[in-house]
Amino acid sequence: MATTNWWKEFRKVALYFLVVVGLGAFFGYALEALAAAAMLLVVYWLNQLRRVSDWMRRPDIEPPEARGLWGEFFDSIYRLQRHDREERDRLQTAVSYLRDSLAALKDAAVLIDPSANIEWSNAAAQQLLGLQYPRDRGQAIVNLLRVPNFSAYFTAGDYQEPLLIESPLDANVQLQVEVTAFGRGSRLMFCRDVTREQQLEKMRRDFVANVSHELRTPLTVISGYLLTLMDTDLGREARLQQPMLQMQQQAERMETLLRDLLWLSQIEAAEGREERRTMDMRELVGEVREFALGAYPDRVIRTELLTERAVEGNYKHLYSAVSNLVINALKYSDGDVDIEWSDREDACCLSVRDYGPGIDAVHLPRLTERFYRVDKSRSQGTGGTGLGLAIVKHVLAGHHARLEIESEVGVGSTFRCVFPHSQD
Ligand code: ADP
Repeated sequence: MATTNWWKEFRKVALYFLVVVGLGAFFGYALEALAAAAMLLVVYWLNQLRRVSDWMRRPDIEPPEARGLWGEFFDSIYRLQRHDREERDRLQTAVSYLRDSLAALKDAAVLIDPSANIEWSNAAAQQLLGLQYPRDRGQAIVNLLRVPNFSAYFTAGDYQEPLLIESPLDANVQLQVEVTAFGRGSRLMFCRDVTREQQLEKMRRDFVANVSHELRTPLTVISGYLLTLMDTDLGREARLQQPMLQMQQQAERMETLLRDLLWLSQIEAAEGREERRTMDMRELVGEVREFALGAYPDRVIRTELLTERAVEGNYKHLYSAVSNLVINALKYSDGDVDIEWSDREDACCLSVRDYGPGIDAVHLPRLTERFYRVDKSRSQGTGGTGLGLAIVKHVLAGHHARLEIESEVGVGSTFRCVFPHSQD
Protein backbone atom coordinates (compact mmCIF):
# COMPACT_ATOMS: atom_id res chain seq x y z
CA MET A 1 0.00 0.00 0.00
CA ALA A 2 2.75 2.41 1.09
CA THR A 3 4.88 1.38 -1.93
CA THR A 4 1.91 1.85 -4.31
CA ASN A 5 1.37 5.38 -2.94
CA TRP A 6 5.06 6.09 -3.23
CA TRP A 7 5.03 5.02 -6.91
CA LYS A 8 1.94 7.12 -7.54
CA GLU A 9 3.63 10.15 -5.95
CA PHE A 10 6.79 9.46 -7.96
CA ARG A 11 4.78 9.24 -11.18
CA LYS A 12 2.93 12.47 -10.32
CA VAL A 13 6.19 14.34 -9.65
CA ALA A 14 7.76 12.90 -12.82
CA LEU A 15 4.71 13.89 -14.88
CA TYR A 16 4.76 17.37 -13.28
CA PHE A 17 8.42 17.86 -14.29
CA LEU A 18 7.78 16.45 -17.77
CA VAL A 19 4.86 18.83 -18.42
CA VAL A 20 6.58 21.92 -16.98
CA VAL A 21 9.95 21.22 -18.66
CA GLY A 22 8.12 20.27 -21.90
CA LEU A 23 6.21 23.58 -21.88
CA GLY A 24 9.46 25.44 -21.01
CA ALA A 25 11.24 23.74 -23.94
CA PHE A 26 8.37 24.64 -26.24
CA PHE A 27 8.89 28.30 -25.39
CA GLY A 28 12.72 27.93 -25.37
CA TYR A 29 13.15 28.15 -21.55
CA ALA A 30 13.67 24.48 -20.57
CA LEU A 31 16.30 25.08 -17.84
CA GLU A 32 14.46 28.01 -16.30
CA ALA A 33 11.22 25.97 -16.29
CA LEU A 34 13.05 23.05 -14.53
CA ALA A 35 14.45 25.39 -11.86
CA ALA A 36 11.05 27.02 -11.31
CA ALA A 37 9.34 23.59 -11.09
CA ALA A 38 11.91 22.37 -8.55
CA MET A 39 11.52 25.56 -6.50
CA LEU A 40 7.75 25.23 -6.50
CA LEU A 41 7.97 21.59 -5.40
CA VAL A 42 10.37 22.48 -2.55
CA VAL A 43 8.01 25.26 -1.43
CA TYR A 44 5.08 22.83 -1.52
CA TRP A 45 6.99 20.25 0.52
CA LEU A 46 8.19 22.88 2.99
CA ASN A 47 4.62 23.99 3.42
CA GLN A 48 3.49 20.43 4.14
CA LEU A 49 6.30 20.09 6.72
CA ARG A 50 5.18 23.34 8.33
CA ARG A 51 1.64 21.98 8.61
CA VAL A 52 2.96 18.80 10.29
CA SER A 53 5.07 20.85 12.63
CA ASP A 54 2.09 23.12 13.55
CA TRP A 55 -0.04 20.06 14.17
CA MET A 56 2.64 18.37 16.28
CA ARG A 57 2.73 21.39 18.54
CA ARG A 58 -1.05 21.16 19.04
CA PRO A 59 -1.88 17.45 18.87
CA ASP A 60 -5.44 18.07 20.08
CA ILE A 61 -6.44 19.54 16.70
CA GLU A 62 -7.36 17.38 13.72
CA PRO A 63 -4.48 16.33 11.41
CA PRO A 64 -3.99 18.48 8.25
CA GLU A 65 -5.88 17.37 5.16
CA ALA A 66 -3.73 16.06 2.33
CA ARG A 67 -3.86 13.53 -0.42
CA GLY A 68 -1.40 10.95 -1.70
CA LEU A 69 1.84 10.19 0.09
CA TRP A 70 1.53 13.25 2.33
CA GLY A 71 -1.99 12.22 3.36
CA GLU A 72 -0.73 8.76 4.21
CA PHE A 73 2.16 10.27 6.17
CA PHE A 74 -0.26 12.44 8.22
CA ASP A 75 -2.56 9.46 8.84
CA SER A 76 0.30 7.28 10.10
CA ILE A 77 1.42 9.95 12.53
CA TYR A 78 -2.18 10.45 13.61
CA ARG A 79 -2.65 6.71 14.24
CA LEU A 80 0.61 6.51 16.24
CA GLN A 81 -0.44 9.53 18.26
CA ARG A 82 -3.84 8.05 19.02
CA HIS A 83 -2.33 4.71 20.04
CA ASP A 84 0.13 6.54 22.25
CA ARG A 85 -2.66 8.57 23.88
CA GLU A 86 -4.74 5.44 24.50
CA GLU A 87 -1.76 3.66 26.07
CA ARG A 88 -1.08 6.69 28.28
CA ASP A 89 -4.73 6.85 29.34
CA ARG A 90 -4.72 3.16 30.15
CA LEU A 91 -1.57 3.50 32.26
CA GLN A 92 -2.93 6.59 33.93
CA THR A 93 -6.13 4.71 34.81
CA ALA A 94 -4.11 1.81 36.27
CA VAL A 95 -1.92 4.19 38.31
CA SER A 96 -4.96 6.14 39.51
CA TYR A 97 -6.71 2.90 40.43
CA LEU A 98 -3.70 1.77 42.47
CA ARG A 99 -3.31 5.16 44.10
CA ASP A 100 -7.02 5.36 44.90
CA SER A 101 -6.95 1.94 46.54
CA LEU A 102 -3.83 2.85 48.55
CA ALA A 103 -5.37 6.21 49.43
CA ALA A 104 -8.53 4.50 50.68
CA LEU A 105 -6.58 2.19 53.02
CA LYS A 106 -7.08 2.56 56.76
CA ASP A 107 -3.37 1.82 57.17
CA ALA A 108 -0.85 4.53 56.44
CA ALA A 109 0.92 3.96 53.11
CA VAL A 110 4.05 5.90 52.17
CA LEU A 111 5.98 5.55 48.91
CA ILE A 112 9.67 6.28 49.39
CA ASP A 113 12.13 6.85 46.54
CA PRO A 114 15.66 5.34 46.31
CA SER A 115 17.13 8.43 48.05
CA ALA A 116 14.85 7.75 51.05
CA ASN A 117 12.64 10.76 50.29
CA ILE A 118 8.86 10.69 50.46
CA GLU A 119 7.28 10.38 47.03
CA TRP A 120 3.66 10.00 48.03
CA SER A 121 1.57 9.25 51.12
CA ASN A 122 -2.12 8.61 51.74
CA ALA A 123 -4.61 10.30 54.06
CA ALA A 124 -4.12 7.72 56.83
CA ALA A 125 -0.42 8.63 56.91
CA GLN A 126 -1.47 12.10 58.02
CA GLN A 127 -3.64 10.74 60.84
CA LEU A 128 -1.15 8.14 62.07
CA LEU A 129 2.24 9.67 61.25
CA GLY A 130 1.53 13.36 60.65
CA LEU A 131 2.86 13.12 57.07
CA GLN A 132 1.07 15.37 54.63
CA TYR A 133 0.97 14.94 50.88
CA PRO A 134 1.96 16.91 48.79
CA ARG A 135 3.49 19.20 51.47
CA ASP A 136 6.11 16.62 52.54
CA ARG A 137 6.94 15.34 49.07
CA GLY A 138 10.71 15.14 48.54
CA GLN A 139 11.52 15.29 52.28
CA ALA A 140 13.70 12.60 53.87
CA ILE A 141 11.45 10.14 55.74
CA VAL A 142 13.92 9.79 58.64
CA ASN A 143 13.84 13.57 59.18
CA LEU A 144 10.07 13.68 59.37
CA LEU A 145 9.43 10.50 61.32
CA ARG A 146 11.41 11.23 64.45
CA VAL A 147 10.56 8.36 66.78
CA PRO A 148 12.99 6.06 68.63
CA ASN A 149 14.41 3.14 66.62
CA PHE A 150 12.79 4.11 63.31
CA SER A 151 15.84 5.70 61.71
CA ALA A 152 18.10 2.75 62.62
CA TYR A 153 15.48 0.25 61.39
CA PHE A 154 14.88 2.09 58.14
CA THR A 155 18.52 2.61 57.23
CA ALA A 156 19.62 -0.91 58.23
CA GLY A 157 17.49 -2.24 55.35
CA ASP A 158 16.56 -5.53 57.04
CA TYR A 159 12.76 -5.50 56.90
CA GLN A 160 12.09 -9.15 57.64
CA GLU A 161 10.52 -8.34 61.00
CA PRO A 162 8.08 -5.45 61.44
CA LEU A 163 8.95 -2.61 63.82
CA LEU A 164 6.80 -1.38 66.69
CA ILE A 165 6.87 2.38 67.24
CA GLU A 166 4.92 5.04 69.09
CA SER A 167 2.92 7.37 66.90
CA PRO A 168 4.74 10.74 66.64
CA LEU A 169 1.34 12.40 67.19
CA ASP A 170 0.25 10.47 70.27
CA ALA A 171 2.59 8.43 72.49
CA ASN A 172 -0.35 6.20 73.53
CA VAL A 173 -0.84 4.94 70.00
CA GLN A 174 1.31 1.98 69.03
CA LEU A 175 2.09 1.49 65.36
CA GLN A 176 3.46 -1.48 63.50
CA VAL A 177 5.70 -0.49 60.61
CA GLU A 178 6.30 -2.80 57.66
CA VAL A 179 8.60 -1.85 54.81
CA THR A 180 8.80 -3.58 51.43
CA ALA A 181 11.62 -2.81 49.02
CA PHE A 182 10.83 -2.90 45.31
CA GLY A 183 12.17 -1.69 41.95
CA ARG A 184 15.56 -0.02 42.09
CA GLY A 185 15.74 0.96 45.75
CA SER A 186 12.18 2.27 46.15
CA ARG A 187 10.29 1.31 49.27
CA LEU A 188 6.66 1.04 50.27
CA MET A 189 5.96 1.54 53.96
CA PHE A 190 2.76 0.49 55.70
CA CYS A 191 1.86 1.53 59.25
CA ARG A 192 -0.96 -0.03 61.21
CA ASP A 193 -2.48 1.02 64.50
CA VAL A 194 -1.89 -1.97 66.80
CA THR A 195 -2.70 -0.25 70.10
CA ARG A 196 -5.67 -2.54 70.76
CA GLU A 197 -3.74 -5.73 69.95
CA GLN A 198 -0.89 -4.55 72.17
CA GLN A 199 -3.28 -3.82 75.02
CA LEU A 200 -4.89 -7.26 74.67
CA GLU A 201 -1.47 -8.89 74.55
CA LYS A 202 -0.45 -7.03 77.71
CA MET A 203 -3.70 -8.05 79.42
CA ARG A 204 -3.01 -11.67 78.50
CA ARG A 205 0.55 -11.44 79.83
CA ASP A 206 -0.59 -9.76 83.05
CA PHE A 207 -3.34 -12.33 83.49
CA VAL A 208 -0.95 -15.28 83.14
CA ALA A 209 1.58 -13.60 85.45
CA ASN A 210 -1.09 -12.81 88.07
CA VAL A 211 -2.68 -16.26 87.99
CA SER A 212 0.73 -17.93 88.27
CA HIS A 213 1.63 -15.66 91.14
CA GLU A 214 -1.68 -16.15 92.96
CA LEU A 215 -1.51 -19.95 92.59
CA ARG A 216 1.91 -20.18 94.13
CA THR A 217 0.87 -19.47 97.72
CA PRO A 218 -1.93 -22.05 97.94
CA LEU A 219 0.34 -24.56 96.24
CA THR A 220 3.13 -23.94 98.75
CA VAL A 221 0.63 -24.46 101.59
CA ILE A 222 -0.66 -27.71 100.03
CA SER A 223 2.89 -29.02 99.43
CA GLY A 224 3.92 -28.07 102.95
CA TYR A 225 0.99 -29.89 104.59
CA LEU A 226 1.50 -32.85 102.28
CA LEU A 227 5.11 -33.23 103.38
CA THR A 228 4.05 -32.95 107.02
CA LEU A 229 1.29 -35.52 106.47
CA MET A 230 3.71 -37.94 104.80
CA ASP A 231 5.79 -37.82 107.95
CA THR A 232 2.92 -38.90 110.18
CA ASP A 233 1.72 -42.44 110.99
CA LEU A 234 -1.26 -41.89 108.72
CA GLY A 235 0.97 -40.87 105.83
CA ARG A 236 3.15 -43.93 106.29
CA GLU A 237 0.20 -46.29 105.96
CA ALA A 238 0.84 -48.64 102.99
CA ARG A 239 -2.48 -47.89 101.25
CA LEU A 240 -1.72 -44.15 101.26
CA GLN A 241 1.93 -44.33 100.19
CA GLN A 242 1.26 -44.40 96.43
CA PRO A 243 -1.39 -41.64 96.37
CA MET A 244 0.74 -39.46 98.63
CA LEU A 245 3.77 -39.90 96.42
CA GLN A 246 1.74 -39.02 93.32
CA MET A 247 0.30 -35.95 95.02
CA GLN A 248 3.78 -34.81 95.90
CA GLN A 249 5.06 -35.39 92.34
CA GLN A 250 2.15 -33.52 90.81
CA ALA A 251 2.57 -30.63 93.28
CA GLU A 252 6.25 -30.41 92.30
CA ARG A 253 5.27 -30.44 88.64
CA MET A 254 2.82 -27.63 89.19
CA GLU A 255 5.46 -25.63 91.04
CA THR A 256 7.87 -26.04 88.12
CA LEU A 257 5.11 -25.04 85.71
CA LEU A 258 4.24 -21.92 87.67
CA ARG A 259 7.91 -21.00 88.00
CA ASP A 260 8.43 -21.31 84.23
CA LEU A 261 5.21 -19.41 83.46
CA LEU A 262 6.22 -16.56 85.75
CA TRP A 263 9.71 -16.48 84.28
CA LEU A 264 8.33 -16.40 80.73
CA SER A 265 5.98 -13.55 81.70
CA GLN A 266 8.92 -11.60 83.15
CA ILE A 267 10.99 -12.10 80.00
CA GLU A 268 8.06 -11.07 77.80
CA ALA A 269 7.29 -8.02 79.93
CA ALA A 270 10.93 -6.89 79.72
CA GLU A 271 10.58 -6.65 75.89
CA GLY A 272 14.30 -6.21 75.47
CA ARG A 273 14.44 -3.29 77.94
CA GLU A 274 16.07 -5.35 80.70
CA GLU A 275 19.41 -4.34 82.21
CA ARG A 276 22.26 -5.17 79.86
CA ARG A 277 26.00 -5.56 80.07
CA THR A 278 28.79 -6.85 77.92
CA MET A 279 29.08 -10.54 78.59
CA ASP A 280 31.86 -12.98 77.92
CA MET A 281 29.91 -15.92 76.55
CA ARG A 282 32.82 -18.26 77.34
CA GLU A 283 32.24 -17.61 81.05
CA LEU A 284 28.51 -18.07 80.71
CA VAL A 285 29.00 -21.40 78.90
CA GLY A 286 31.39 -22.52 81.66
CA GLU A 287 28.85 -21.68 84.36
CA VAL A 288 25.98 -23.42 82.56
CA ARG A 289 28.19 -26.49 82.15
CA GLU A 290 28.94 -26.57 85.89
CA PHE A 291 25.26 -26.28 86.71
CA ALA A 292 24.24 -28.97 84.19
CA LEU A 293 26.92 -31.38 85.46
CA GLY A 294 25.54 -30.81 88.97
CA ALA A 295 22.18 -32.12 87.78
CA TYR A 296 23.65 -34.85 85.52
CA PRO A 297 26.97 -35.78 87.17
CA ASP A 298 27.56 -38.93 85.08
CA ARG A 299 27.36 -37.26 81.70
CA VAL A 300 29.99 -35.75 79.41
CA ILE A 301 29.62 -32.14 78.28
CA ARG A 302 32.35 -30.93 75.91
CA THR A 303 32.81 -27.23 75.24
CA GLU A 304 34.59 -25.58 72.32
CA LEU A 305 35.04 -21.85 72.77
CA LEU A 306 36.31 -20.63 69.41
CA THR A 307 35.80 -16.89 69.74
CA GLU A 308 36.33 -14.18 72.32
CA ARG A 309 33.45 -12.14 71.02
CA ALA A 310 31.19 -10.82 73.74
CA VAL A 311 27.44 -10.31 73.67
CA GLU A 312 25.56 -7.25 74.90
CA GLY A 313 22.75 -8.69 76.95
CA ASN A 314 21.06 -9.67 80.16
CA TYR A 315 22.97 -12.32 82.07
CA LYS A 316 19.98 -13.95 83.81
CA HIS A 317 17.95 -14.21 80.63
CA LEU A 318 20.79 -15.60 78.51
CA TYR A 319 21.84 -18.00 81.25
CA SER A 320 18.30 -19.33 81.41
CA ALA A 321 18.12 -19.76 77.61
CA VAL A 322 21.45 -21.59 77.32
CA SER A 323 20.79 -23.77 80.38
CA ASN A 324 17.36 -24.74 78.98
CA LEU A 325 19.03 -25.96 75.79
CA VAL A 326 21.77 -27.85 77.62
CA ILE A 327 19.36 -29.44 80.10
CA ASN A 328 17.07 -30.47 77.21
CA ALA A 329 20.05 -32.05 75.41
CA LEU A 330 20.88 -34.05 78.55
CA LYS A 331 17.25 -34.83 79.35
CA TYR A 332 16.24 -36.12 75.92
CA SER A 333 19.44 -38.01 75.04
CA ASP A 334 21.72 -40.30 76.98
CA GLY A 335 24.94 -39.57 75.12
CA ASP A 336 27.49 -36.78 75.20
CA VAL A 337 26.63 -33.13 74.67
CA ASP A 338 28.73 -30.56 72.77
CA ILE A 339 28.53 -26.82 73.33
CA GLU A 340 30.28 -24.53 70.85
CA TRP A 341 30.69 -20.74 70.83
CA SER A 342 31.92 -19.61 67.42
CA ASP A 343 32.10 -16.67 65.06
CA ARG A 344 30.54 -16.99 61.63
CA GLU A 345 30.81 -14.47 58.83
CA ASP A 346 27.70 -12.53 59.74
CA ALA A 347 26.89 -13.74 63.24
CA CYS A 348 28.13 -15.33 66.43
CA CYS A 349 26.69 -18.68 67.19
CA LEU A 350 26.18 -20.74 70.33
CA SER A 351 25.26 -24.29 69.47
CA VAL A 352 24.19 -27.14 71.73
CA ARG A 353 24.41 -30.54 70.12
CA ASP A 354 23.26 -33.92 71.31
CA TYR A 355 23.33 -37.39 69.79
CA GLY A 356 19.92 -38.45 71.08
CA PRO A 357 16.68 -39.53 69.40
CA GLY A 358 16.33 -36.37 67.27
CA ILE A 359 13.05 -34.68 66.39
CA ASP A 360 10.88 -35.39 63.36
CA ALA A 361 10.82 -32.45 60.91
CA VAL A 362 7.02 -32.06 61.25
CA HIS A 363 7.47 -30.88 64.85
CA LEU A 364 10.24 -28.35 64.24
CA PRO A 365 8.08 -25.32 63.25
CA ARG A 366 5.94 -25.70 66.41
CA LEU A 367 8.66 -26.59 68.89
CA THR A 368 8.95 -23.11 70.41
CA GLU A 369 5.20 -22.80 71.03
CA ARG A 370 4.15 -22.74 74.65
CA PHE A 371 3.30 -26.20 75.99
CA TYR A 372 4.21 -27.93 72.73
CA ARG A 373 5.79 -31.28 73.34
CA VAL A 374 6.75 -33.93 70.83
CA ASP A 375 5.97 -36.88 73.00
CA LYS A 376 3.68 -35.83 75.84
CA SER A 377 3.91 -39.08 77.80
CA ARG A 378 7.71 -39.07 77.65
CA SER A 379 7.94 -35.38 78.50
CA GLN A 380 5.84 -35.86 81.60
CA GLY A 381 8.27 -38.51 82.71
CA THR A 382 11.17 -36.10 82.14
CA GLY A 383 9.48 -33.35 84.15
CA GLY A 384 9.15 -31.07 81.14
CA THR A 385 6.64 -28.23 81.04
CA GLY A 386 6.77 -27.45 77.31
CA LEU A 387 7.84 -23.90 78.14
CA GLY A 388 11.62 -24.26 77.89
CA LEU A 389 12.00 -23.52 74.19
CA ALA A 390 9.38 -20.73 74.36
CA ILE A 391 11.61 -19.11 77.00
CA VAL A 392 14.67 -19.57 74.75
CA LYS A 393 12.87 -17.99 71.79
CA HIS A 394 11.73 -14.96 73.78
CA VAL A 395 15.12 -14.39 75.37
CA LEU A 396 16.78 -14.48 71.95
CA ALA A 397 14.18 -12.15 70.41
CA GLY A 398 14.95 -9.69 73.22
CA HIS A 399 18.60 -9.86 72.16
CA HIS A 400 17.85 -9.48 68.41
CA ALA A 401 19.01 -13.05 68.01
CA ARG A 402 17.23 -16.12 66.66
CA LEU A 403 16.98 -19.84 67.35
CA GLU A 404 17.83 -22.32 64.60
CA ILE A 405 17.01 -25.99 65.08
CA GLU A 406 18.52 -28.82 63.09
CA SER A 407 17.55 -32.35 63.90
CA GLU A 408 17.52 -35.80 62.39
CA VAL A 409 15.63 -38.71 63.86
CA GLY A 410 18.04 -41.30 65.24
CA VAL A 411 21.07 -39.01 64.77
CA GLY A 412 20.58 -36.11 67.17
CA SER A 413 19.71 -32.43 67.41
CA THR A 414 21.56 -29.12 67.24
CA PHE A 415 20.01 -25.98 68.71
CA ARG A 416 21.78 -22.77 67.63
CA CYS A 417 21.43 -19.31 69.14
CA VAL A 418 22.47 -16.94 66.35
CA PHE A 419 23.50 -13.38 67.28
CA PRO A 420 23.84 -11.31 64.08
CA HIS A 421 26.83 -8.91 64.01
CA SER A 422 24.65 -6.03 62.83
CA GLN A 423 23.16 -5.98 66.35
CA ASP A 424 26.60 -5.72 68.07
P1 ADP B 1 10.06 -29.40 77.83
O1 ADP B 1 9.88 -28.69 79.12
O2 ADP B 1 8.98 -30.41 77.55
O3 ADP B 1 11.42 -29.91 77.66
P2 ADP B 1 10.73 -27.54 75.77
O4 ADP B 1 9.99 -26.36 75.28
O5 ADP B 1 12.08 -27.33 76.34
O6 ADP B 1 9.77 -28.26 76.77
O7 ADP B 1 10.85 -28.55 74.58
C1 ADP B 1 9.70 -28.84 73.79
C2 ADP B 1 9.77 -30.25 73.25
O8 ADP B 1 10.82 -30.33 72.29
C3 ADP B 1 10.13 -31.27 74.28
O9 ADP B 1 8.98 -31.73 74.93
C4 ADP B 1 10.81 -32.35 73.48
O10 ADP B 1 9.82 -33.21 72.96
C5 ADP B 1 11.44 -31.60 72.33
N1 ADP B 1 12.90 -31.40 72.54
C6 ADP B 1 13.50 -30.31 73.02
N2 ADP B 1 14.84 -30.46 73.03
C7 ADP B 1 15.09 -31.68 72.51
C8 ADP B 1 16.27 -32.44 72.26
N3 ADP B 1 17.49 -31.95 72.52
N4 ADP B 1 16.14 -33.67 71.71
C9 ADP B 1 14.91 -34.16 71.42
N5 ADP B 1 13.76 -33.51 71.65
C10 ADP B 1 13.83 -32.29 72.19
